[in-house]
Amino acid sequence: MNLDTYDYLDGNAAAGELSNIFTMDVTAARGQCAHCGAMKRFAEAHLYMQGPGLVARCCVCEHVLLRVVNARQRVFLDVRGMRCLILDTSGLRESGR
Ligand SMILES: [Zn+2]
Repeated sequence: MNLDTYDYLDGNAAAGELSNIFTMDVTAARGQCAHCGAMKRFAEAHLYMQGPGLVARCCVCEHVLLRVVNARQRVFLDVRGMRCLILDTSGLRESGR
């Protein structure tokens, strides 16, 4: 696949789609690329939305970090391209339990 022929958005464009899955804002999280090891904010990822779902690629090496496809009331989430995803919980309030 020649990525030069496709325009991409930054990872912030995935906020709406990912908010259907995660209660926390994933675009503010930091993730590590499983291919090159770069640790970046998810918002810096290159987001391709031309396919049936969305694909986020590493902004350093273009390796696929995450895929999301909606089909027939199911969401298919593939995050194997990330070694880890670090979410900041400091803004969360106590649940009262
Ligand atoms: Zn990478």
